[in-house]
Amino acid sequence: MKQAAIQQEEVANTKEALKAGWARVAQRLKGELGDDLFNSWFARMDAEDFSRGQLTVSVPTRFLKSWIENHYASKLRKVTETEFKGLQAIIVRVRQQGEAARATQADGTRPAQAERSTVAAQQIQALLTADRESVDESQTFDNFVVGSSNQLAHAAVMRVAGAASGQTLSFNPLYIHSAAGLGKTHMLNALAQKIRIHQPARRVLMLTAERFMYGFIHAIRSKDTLAFKDQFHNVDVLLIDDFQFLQGKAMQQEFCHAFNSLVDTKRQVVIAADVPPTQLDTIDQRMRSRLQGGLVVDIETPDLAQRRHILDLRYMIMLKNDPSAVVPAEILDLVAERITGGGRELEGALNKLIAYQQFNKAPVTIDLASMVLRDAAGASETGRVKIEDILKVVSRHFNVGRNDLLSARRAREVVMPRQIGMYLAKKLTARSLPEIGRRFGGRDHSTVLHAVRKIDEQMKNDEKLARELALLIRLVEQQ
Ligand code: ADP
Ligand code: MG
Repeated sequence: MKQAAIQQEEVANTKEALKAGWARVAQRLKGELGDDLFNSWFARMDAEDFSRGQLTVSVPTRFLKSWIENHYASKLRKVTETEFKGLQAIIVRVRQQGEAARATQADGTRPAQAERSTVAAQQIQALLTADRESVDESQTFDNFVVGSSNQLAHAAVMRVAGAASGQTLSFNPLYIHSAAGLGKTHMLNALAQKIRIHQPARRVLMLTAERFMYGFIHAIRSKDTLAFKDQFHNVDVLLIDDFQFLQGKAMQQEFCHAFNSLVDTKRQVVIAADVPPTQLDTIDQRMRSRLQGGLVVDIETPDLAQRRHILDLRYMIMLKNDPSAVVPAEILDLVAERITGGGRELEGALNKLIAYQQFNKAPVTIDLASMVLRDAAGASETGRVKIEDILKVVSRHFNVGRNDLLSARRAREVVMPRQIGMYLAKKLTARSLPEIGRRFGGRDHSTVLHAVRKIDEQMKNDEKLARELALLIRLVEQQ
């Protein structure tokens, strides 16, 4: 059944039509991007108004707005055009934090101010008391695969899980960082549950930085920041996920207060982020150094054995839900070999194979799997650039041996290409700085960071270098 696209005229007063049109856009986006990406970026986007060719949509944070504008503008436009006829422009607006997700209520009216603050107060309550809901119970230590890539992080988290209430650990905070999909959130979920089960008296609060900000802003609007602060006094273990999203001065100060009062009274804080503290550009220097004052550990991409093990676990779970989803062991071997990213990518590939198989009502053969995996890699948003390819391209382009790039040689004709290589690795792959350092001849992560900053800086004034880099990026992507 094909539904009519929204015509400009009909829109003037029909919130229904807007809602329906937006629902179809969301459906399409989900189809094109997959659930994960959709949920990360678009699940909280709402359409507010469509008039005179201009569609206004809103998102809850500045971060989401800028991410969507920088990475998804053309996709959003393409998908939206088909549903909103006469579309000329899309405006992405940041919702006032007091506003409900829908700018208008079901009956089309806006909530009154007074009503809004009660809503806000209730939301803080919901945020901080019903935090159980924010813990994903399917992610436990039982189904977390430990290997060389995450051994240290895992050991540290287990120490936190095993500590008695009030006992001082030698590290506080524990700060875990890695690229996306490598198991940070999984570990925090597992930790929260383990403590709840084994030490019910120890109070655990798990929040994302975004939820922290959201709660705080609600508290300000409803003039109830005391209640907000109070919540943290009762917490024994505070887990903050996606810390890199913490933004704004007031927000940081507030977090800093909560953080200091917890750490000073020997309560444990665990933080997960996608960069090390030194790279938290929006966080002020004092806070950064406090974050470094505990234990900072990174998680690397899993090795082959670990990837195979993660697939096994995933597969078992899938098989339990659907006994017809049979995938032969050699196919799992192939997936583990080909998909060299983290847990999320492995799951994606496995899902795809099973869907493929059920669609065709035939078991997957190696040839088919090979094809499906190749497509999966080609279609992925970031591409699958390998550090090896970067080394190859850089070495060829500058006529410098691969060994020289990895060596300790400091001759000018080697240093610059090496720095460009590290720069490309940072920009084109999801690898962490320490890992890039290791792959470039066992260098320190600060060396990589220095290279990245230096090239970024030089590019601003050196157009020739900028063009050269653009060329190198194309060459690497064509590998
Ligand atoms: P991050 O928070 O680092 O982006 P997640 O914790 O969300 O990553 O992990 C992404 C997916 O991969 C989750 O479904 C998680 O269960 C799975 N995963 C990641 N690492 C592991 C691991 N070592 N063992 C089992 N599953 C993992
Ligand atoms: Mg996460």
